[in-house]
Order: sequence, then C-alpha cells, then structure tokens
Amino acid sequence: MTLRHSLTSAAAILAAALALPALPAHADEAKTGVLALFIAQDRAVAQVGYRLAIANADLCPRQRFLPGFTVTSPVQYALDYRPDFTALTRLDKGFAIAAIAADSPAARAGLRQGDRLIAIDRAPPPAADGKEADYAPIETANALIDTAMSDGVLNLAVERDGARLDITISPARGCDLTWQVIGGEGWNASTDGRLVTLRSGIVAGTADDAELAVVMGHELAHNLYADPIARGDVAGGIERRADVVGLYLMARAGYDPQAGPRFWRRFGARHPIHALGSLGHASPKQRGTLLDDTARDIARRRSAHGELWPDSYARPGAADQTLRP
Ligand SMILES: [Zn+2]
Repeated sequence: MTLRHSLTSAAAILAAALALPALPAHADEAKTGVLALFIAQDRAVAQVGYRLAIANADLCPRQRFLPGFTVTSPVQYALDYRPDFTALTRLDKGFAIAAIAADSPAARAGLRQGDRLIAIDRAPPPAADGKEADYAPIETANALIDTAMSDGVLNLAVERDGARLDITISPARGCDLTWQVIGGEGWNASTDGRLVTLRSGIVAGTADDAELAVVMGHELAHNLYADPIARGDVAGGIERRADVVGLYLMARAGYDPQAGPRFWRRFGARHPIHALGSLGHASPKQRGTLLDDTARDIARRRSAHGELWPDSYARPGAADQTLRP
C-alpha cells in the first residue's frame, strides 16, 4: 500500500472529509484538511489491504511476506505541504511508521504508528531529503524492508519518545499486491496485476472499512483471474465475476457482506449519471441487487459451515503455493 496523492482536487476531497478530527489552528486549513484526509485514507487502505491479502493468500498467484505496517516521510509531499505534514504527524524528516494493521505481525511485535525508523536489519533507511515531492525514497525503503524480510524475520530499530527500541517482526504470508491511493474525486479504481490504484474520491465515498473492502475486494478479484486491463467487456461477465468473487473475498477477510449492496446503492444515489450502467458495468441498482443475492449466499454458506466460495465461479489457480526465501 502506498500513497501518491497529487493534491489536485482539494475542494472536492475536502467536501467528503467533514468527519475529520479538529486540526491545528495555525496551519493552512485547506492543505491540512487534505493531508489529514489522505493520511486517514492511507491508514484505512493499509488495514483493509492487509486483511484481504492475508485471508486470501491461498488464492493469489503470487505471495510474499507482509509485515502489516506502512512507512511515510515528508519527502513524498511538495515543500509547501511539509509544515502541515509535520504538524499532523510530528515527523519533520526521515521515515516513520504510517499505519499498523490490526492483529498483524507488526502489531504483535509492539510497533506503533508514529515510531521513527532508525534501521532496517541494522542498515540505516535511505536518504529522504529532496526538495521536490518524491515517492522514490518510500519505494526504496519498502524494497529494503522486502529484502530484509525475505528470510522470514525483520529486525527494525525505531525511536519512540526519545528512546531506541529494537523490534523483531515475523512477517505473515499474503498476496503479492501493492495498493495505492492517488488524488482525484472520481469514484474509480483499477489494477494492472500487481498494483491496485484507488482514487481518493472512491475511498472517501465508502462509509466504513467494510465498504472499502467491497471496492478493494472487487479489484483483488480482477487480480486473481488476471483479467485483462483493457477489459472491453461489453457482456459484463468479467465485472460481474469481480463483484461476486470480490464480495466473497471481503467476507473471507471477516467483513460484513451487507456492505456490498449498501455501497452500490449510495453510489447510485450520488451518481445518477451512472443509472444506466456503462461499458461492461451493470447499473449501480443492478449491482446492488446482485450483491444482495451474493450476501445471502455467503450467509447461507456460513451458517452451513461451508467453504466461502461461490458455486458459479471456479477458484483461480494458485500457481505457486510456496514462498521461498
Ligand atoms: Zn472492475
């Protein structure tokens, strides 16, 4: 899960961000509001992405170790956003832990949001002191963490309240997938097989983690079946499969599938222009009805203690179930 906000549609995003906690009075309210929203969205996507990736690991074509945390740095923002970033996060340079997934290896090891990263397997984190907004240092840090984890153990040194702590994390096996949130008010998401991109607008349009899991589960389903990127799916079979399988994927991660129909009904109410559907996509109303039926199937299977998988679709082939160091 990564963050590459372009900060282009602040007003639209702010309109959806009324539930934000009180912000520091001295900071630029618009900028701080957008940043606070992005930070909150990133944390939500990290939580949901981790749960989906762990619960569905055996279905994914590729797996990797997941530690259950994400990192952030002021360097990922333009210079004029950094004072506000520091006001919100108390991080003025280097890297800190941005999000910790609940019940993850990082949470169990005692890592906390806001811990400053001092070392990854005894090596210092990469430089992060550019004047331009630059996502590359975050990617470098993530690559170092991936390499350090490849033997099944990750040793971090962090600073918390002025004290140094050594933390050992035993990462879990999950789907090999990266989630990113980019700026923009559009209610859309896409995937290229390894990277899932969510617009800030669609994340802001979800009422809770379960609805976010509906959106993310749909994209994960596209990944499991290696659906082509340019789907040109006039008959809608691929999108229908992603809706149904996606709801099963979120249910397997412990989310309430009733969030599926709820999300699509709200989408339909907010976006009347989509009432007839679009290329390959049924209308929000039809998708709500489909997911009502799917949620009922899931509930039936649960009460019968059956496997959480729909009859209508074959399980995607998991080519390589083993994770080799
Ligand atoms: Zn789709």
